[in-house]
Amino acid sequence: MNLTASQTRMDAGRGAVSRGSRGIPARVTRSSTSVRVAAVAAPQKSVTEYERPDANGRFGRFGGKYVPETLIPALEQLEKDFKEALADPSFKATMDGILKDYVGRETPLYYAERLSEYYKTGDGGHAEIYLKREDLNHTGAHKINNSLGQALLCKRLNKQRIIAETGAGQHGVATATVCARLGLKCIVYMGAKDMERQALNVFRMRLCGAEVRPVHSGTATLKDATSEAIRDWVTNVETTHYILGSAAGPHPYPMMVREFQSIIGKETRKQCLEKWGGKPDVLMACVGGGSNAIGLFHEFVNDTDVRLVGVEAGGEGVDTNKHAATLTKGSPGVLHGSYSYLLQDDDGQIIDPHSISAGLDYPGIGPEHSFLMDIGRAEYHSVTDKEALDAFQLLSQLEGIIPALETSHAIAHLPRLIAGMQNGQRVVINCSGRGDKDIGNAMKFIDLSGAGKQ
Ligand SMILES: *Cc1c(COP(=O)(O)O)cnc(C)c1O
Repeated sequence: MNLTASQTRMDAGRGAVSRGSRGIPARVTRSSTSVRVAAVAAPQKSVTEYERPDANGRFGRFGGKYVPETLIPALEQLEKDFKEALADPSFKATMDGILKDYVGRETPLYYAERLSEYYKTGDGGHAEIYLKREDLNHTGAHKINNSLGQALLCKRLNKQRIIAETGAGQHGVATATVCARLGLKCIVYMGAKDMERQALNVFRMRLCGAEVRPVHSGTATLKDATSEAIRDWVTNVETTHYILGSAAGPHPYPMMVREFQSIIGKETRKQCLEKWGGKPDVLMACVGGGSNAIGLFHEFVNDTDVRLVGVEAGGEGVDTNKHAATLTKGSPGVLHGSYSYLLQDDDGQIIDPHSISAGLDYPGIGPEHSFLMDIGRAEYHSVTDKEALDAFQLLSQLEGIIPALETSHAIAHLPRLIAGMQNGQRVVINCSGRGDKDIGNAMKFIDLSGAGKQ
């Protein structure tokens, strides 16, 4: 909370300084695009009785509802309906049943033995690395946790029409899937350029009965699709529920998405207790809009002995203009209904983000992450496209698990993280999705013609 805007801009001007630990620029230990904070995290500020957002939908100075007047009553109603649903045991029972038999929860907490042995801790030993296997969910990622929760809420409110935005198509596919399951009409807005790049996911959505509407405005990518979905919602709010795909957007979305994703952290706590009778030392996740990370972190926000680490897309390097490292390089402003860090120029115009991973290619970030960074409760780093691609191969080769390129960003930060840890400490990484969707893209960058030969 102490980090002023000018300080922020100053940091941004200084180059690749990782944020975190109360926003104080960390000791720079490498000169590459990704820099880490000094080995062992400083004791983090206590946030016991963490009650956020507040009644106005604020996480400190972040969040809020920056939307057209016509949407305010709808957002207020949504918040009320959401809270009522949560308090209703039958809503929870229905959701739990579908999560179990349809989505396939709970997902395993997997000890990645060979990956653990691969990296040395500062004292020459090894850390234990665990993967929370969200990639094993139906549709292959964590996104369905949120789509299902919101679609069930919509059903409860007797709204028959669902709209969603999608970038790479993962959220669109998850939403189209649960709409098929629940018999709801589904319209997905998608940038025309993304539709070309992600033709497979367009077909999957249509196969499940969704209408995919191309958006040609702006750069014809995710932020334009999001703006178009919001426009549709303004017009059709009486009959329509908008399923937003990340922990971003106006209140109550960040809170609601967090709630539906927090099952990740709840299961993790239980599984850690079962496996070693304690807590993890570090939780780590990749950060696009921030939903899989907050889903893992939320359960542990009050456990200040658990270090929270988010990893952003550094693209071609955070000192180029081709990255999506919103927290590392952005400044606070308003986008898609909420006040948070974003990539913008001096006139407040959005700078187009870049990442090899479509799911991280977003110029904003959920407001809670901005807050957690500013108070020093969580720290955020970035890795480059190249580092993510290397991690994509490494996990495949060491564990036989092909991670999503998004997830690969979290894996790629491991060497820097582990070097600052001690023998026997434990890290849980959210394995947010599987990499099958990325194979075609990865083939353009990785030559495996000599693979397996001695
Ligand atoms: C969409 C996506 C992400 C990024 O979104 P968050 O809201 O930051 O979680 C990460 N991993 C996978 C597999 C995704 O599909």
